[in-house]
Amino acid sequence: MSNSILDTLNENQRTAATTINEHVRIIAGAGSGKTRVLMARIVYLVQDCGILPNRILAITFTNKAANEMKTRLTAQLGSMASVVRISTIHSLCVRMLREDADLIGYPKTFAIMDPEDQKAILKPIYKTLEVDKTTISYNRALGAISAYKTNYIDPQMAGNMAMDDVSITLAKIYAGYEKRRNEMKAMDFDDLLLEGHRLLNSVSSVREKWQNRLDYIHVDEFQDVDPIQYGIIKLLTGKNTHLCVVGDPDQTIYTWRGASVDIILKFNKDFEPCKTVILNENYRSTQPILDASNAVIKYNKERIDKDLYTKLPGDEKITMFEGKEDSEEPIFVARQINEKHKKGLEYKDMAILYRSNYSSRAFERIFKSVGIPYVIYGGIRFYERQEIKDALCYLRLCTNRSEEDPDQMALDLDVLRVINVPRRGIGARTIENLQRQAAERHMNLYDVMKDPIGLSTAVTKKCEMFVDLIEDLRENREHYTLEDFLDYVLDTTGYISMLKEDRESGQDRIDNLKELKEDIAQSMIEDPEMTLESYLQDIALFTDKTQETSENTVSLMTVHAAKGLEFDTVFLVNFNDGVFPSSRACDEGGMKALEEERRLLYVAMTRAKKTLYISWNTGFSYMQDAFKTPSRFRAEIPMEYIEQEEKEEAPEQPKVVVSQSLTGRPSKLGANKKKIRLRKGDAVEHTIYGQGVVLEIRGDVATIAFGHTIGVKKLNASHPSLKKA
Ligand code: ATP
Ligand code: MG
Repeated sequence: MSNSILDTLNENQRTAATTINEHVRIIAGAGSGKTRVLMARIVYLVQDCGILPNRILAITFTNKAANEMKTRLTAQLGSMASVVRISTIHSLCVRMLREDADLIGYPKTFAIMDPEDQKAILKPIYKTLEVDKTTISYNRALGAISAYKTNYIDPQMAGNMAMDDVSITLAKIYAGYEKRRNEMKAMDFDDLLLEGHRLLNSVSSVREKWQNRLDYIHVDEFQDVDPIQYGIIKLLTGKNTHLCVVGDPDQTIYTWRGASVDIILKFNKDFEPCKTVILNENYRSTQPILDASNAVIKYNKERIDKDLYTKLPGDEKITMFEGKEDSEEPIFVARQINEKHKKGLEYKDMAILYRSNYSSRAFERIFKSVGIPYVIYGGIRFYERQEIKDALCYLRLCTNRSEEDPDQMALDLDVLRVINVPRRGIGARTIENLQRQAAERHMNLYDVMKDPIGLSTAVTKKCEMFVDLIEDLRENREHYTLEDFLDYVLDTTGYISMLKEDRESGQDRIDNLKELKEDIAQSMIEDPEMTLESYLQDIALFTDKTQETSENTVSLMTVHAAKGLEFDTVFLVNFNDGVFPSSRACDEGGMKALEEERRLLYVAMTRAKKTLYISWNTGFSYMQDAFKTPSRFRAEIPMEYIEQEEKEEAPEQPKVVVSQSLTGRPSKLGANKKKIRLRKGDAVEHTIYGQGVVLEIRGDVATIAFGHTIGVKKLNASHPSLKKA
């Protein structure tokens, strides 16, 4: 039977795919066909060598990669593909443990705990130990538990090692957690790997069973394997098993989670005989993209040099864009996407990549307004994130609608969402009681809290404090600009302090809230007449749950999530110092951290097949409390691969006036006051909304009718995105 996929491989690739009597290690750069070789090898084993498909295992890094591999193999092997064992290492461990967990003291039906389940276990432990969630957040405790476990530190050792109060408490929480987990006979995600490893290591019959089951094991993205995962792979590999690992040391981006590039570099010592294959031809990207990526990664000192070349036609250089203010970058990207789409490029062939999750906000917003379908891959949409919803909820509570809004349900939901966030000691039973009273007295929950009946003095006091808090926010609302009011709300409610306690994800969430502030400031510039009410109404558009069902969408994702993927056109956005490289890497990380960031940049750039845009902006950053600067890595991308930098055609850049707001923070309200003279009836052209007609001018605000998908908008008449047609 002919193996069509094998025929398409180059010589080195074919050698790697068809060397089946020794272990194989493929070390090769991005886009050189490593994943493709793995698939070709599996097809070869089944079709040409008669290996039974269920004796072949392929380990991928993500579920998405596993599914993709299954789909592609089905095209080659038909129904036989479904028998090939393709999975992530976590699902493989679940499979092993479901068969034999009883041999290491678990029922085969053991429960798997996700982070929510883990938190549910922590709750009573905190109560018994009298630990306050604001002192040690659940996430922090779970982070510590994971670190103990993956370093093989048991609760007793953790207790012995603990020197300060917090560590002592963490060790006690850990002990309580493990005790409860053992009683429940459940496993968290770390346990799946640890217990999977223990099962293979300590029960020889199980180890032999799996070794006898598998003839060929393949591991993709091997450069990001950590020591425990490597241990599992070693134990699965018996005398007659052949291992084939593929990886690119330049793409190691998980060292912060324990991945070690040494594992792939020393692999040939652990597994002999081993054939090492180097692949040098890149089949993904055009020459300028590839050469620029190679030039960047060469700045890393700790690496083995390799040189990739490509024969792919195409000489389009990398386009760089600098937005002078925040809105320019997303507008630029949206416009490029629109133009490309008009020329026939499908949305799904375009991706927006960023270093940190919060960057998605500005792009989501513009895509929603102009109708570009998008999907956030591997993350939650900005306006659906917990802290954003909480903040918006507090803001909604400040709109005083209890008097005017007949929709009491919505008000109640807002109260319920934040009544105990941060914790105010108002328990579930009190809330139930208040809800019952609200129903009986035909009042909303908030009004009941103003005057509760039959509660203890302590609880009544807590309700009163919540009402006082909201009343204080309402009263102070008019003293602040909208964006500064957000700060006031988050400070006064204790929300920011709560997040500061959360070492695990607190900073990310604070960054998201700063980004929300950026959003409000930006909306104010676009529409100076915006009120809190109108802002919240606009935002409702983004918070609705309905997801686009279309498959043909632009993908938005972090660079980490983009590993292994490729797109015709890639926009690498927010390429600012302190974002990419991250502020942590800039401030404290030293060379190692910067080299990991540079590898991440290499991963980002090499996702692009034909077109690569890199953009940043130099507006004011609430995150850094300063004006932004381009990434320090920009200077490492040689000029010869860069297209003349695009400039927005704002004829004369308006001066950004930074005024001090009440809280002492600079406010951008004074920005962009340059006048263009528009009159009623003027035809205008907006960079994103297209052509429109001015319906009304009031001061600086133009009411403009655009095409039917956009509708009527109130915009700042002097915004650079608007000009007379
Ligand atoms: P990464 O390091 O990003 O995971 P990779 O080395 O796994 O990259 P692949 O994704 O396997 O690279 O291949 C990159 C692209 O090149 C894919 O579109 C693949 O189909 C194509 N490709 C690889 N080898 C060949 C070949 N010999 N002929 C034609 N196309 C190829
Ligand atoms: Mg790959």
